[in-house]
Order: sequence, then structure tokens, then C-alpha cells
Amino acid sequence: MAIDGMAGTGKSTLARALASRLGLTFLDTGATYRAIALVAMEARADLSDGEAVVDAWRGHVLGISAGRLTIDGEDREEAIRTASVSESASRIAVHPQVRKMLAEWQRGFVEAHGGAVAEGRDIGTVVLPEAGLKVFLVARDEVRSSRRGEVTAAELAKRDIRDATRRADPVRAAEDAVVLDTSEREVGELVGELAGIYWLTVGGEG
Ligand code: C5P
Repeated sequence: MAIDGMAGTGKSTLARALASRLGLTFLDTGATYRAIALVAMEARADLSDGEAVVDAWRGHVLGISAGRLTIDGEDREEAIRTASVSESASRIAVHPQVRKMLAEWQRGFVEAHGGAVAEGRDIGTVVLPEAGLKVFLVARDEVRSSRRGEVTAAELAKRDIRDATRRADPVRAAEDAVVLDTSEREVGELVGELAGIYWLTVGGEG
């Protein structure tokens, strides 16, 4: 199942809860962009240069273990959640080389787990275009920036523009996605609604 949308629309919360309800693995693809950004920052690579970012990553191994991101087998979950890594992840995500490398890793992860609830920006359009159920979440700007406590509305708007206007895989809803506004909705209610749609459309197929 694919869940896409901009920051603060509730993707992670919803995808995590849905995965647990449906007995599927949860995949936070934003964490994988954050991992590449962290390594590139630590290597002092030029983040505006896609080749330099891929070079900085070469030789490293990405993993997700018990829902926590690992790099070369080491738990880096906390290190990837800082505001500076958020900003750098959005910058390195514009590079087609980075996106191709991560989309392949993400497909491999989903296959290895026999399906997953994957959330991100391009899951329904690029990573898993054959997903049985695609959901695209939206929410009002003030709701999104209050959910994302660490960033101002202006910073969020800057990232939105970068995500929506980049040439490689800009954020957009797949044509066959269910579009949901989460501004006024409770997580439990949304999980129930989407689990119901999932069983009706995908059934036990995964
Ligand atoms: O979702 P999260 O804020 O952790 O993602 C970090 C950044 O990674 C986003 O701002 C976005 O630019 C990028 N991203 C992406 N495609 C995805 C997931 C994340 O471009 N599937």
C-alpha cells in the first residue's frame, strides 16, 4: 500500500497505525533520504551535486531494523531526525541519481517483506505504481506546520515548493489515488476507513 503527501499531512502516523492493523511492515521512505543526507553532510559533500552525494554514500549500507534506521549496521534513528538533516534531505532528494538508487532499495525492502505500507512522496507514482491501494494525504497549511513543531510555516513552504517543482519525481497524487484531507480527522477514524477500503479493494492479496 502506498501513502503519499507533503510533510505534516499525517503520513507516518497513519501508515504506522495501518501497517500494524493490517499486519504489514511499515516503510518510512523519508528516513532513507535522511540517511543519505546525513552521510553526505558528515562527508562534507556538496549537497547541490548529485554525483558528489552518491559518491559520499558509496560503500555504505542502509538498513531498517525493528523500525529504526541503520547505516552500516549502526542505529542512526536519532541522528536523522534533526532539523538540519530535514533540510538537507529535501535538498538531496532533487537529484535523479539519488532517487533512482533509493527507489530500488525501497522496492527491494517491500519485496523482501512480502508487501508493506510504504509512505513518502512518490510511492504511488514511482516506487510502487502497481500498489493495490494508493492514498494521497493533504491538510491545511496551518495544521501541517503545527504538527511539524520544529519548522516554521515559511520553511515548510520552501520544502513544499522544492518537492513539488523538482524535475525528478515531483510530488503529486497518482491518478488512481484516494485523496484524503486529514486536517480535521482523528487518526483512529482514518485508520478504520482506510483499512476498510484496503480489505475491499486489495483483500488478502497484500
Ligand atoms: O518525510 P520526511 O520529512 O522524513 O522526508 C524528508 C525529505 O525527503 C522530504 O522533504 C522530501 O524532500 C524527501 N522525500 C522524497 N521522496 C520520498 C520521501 C522523502 O523526496 N519518497
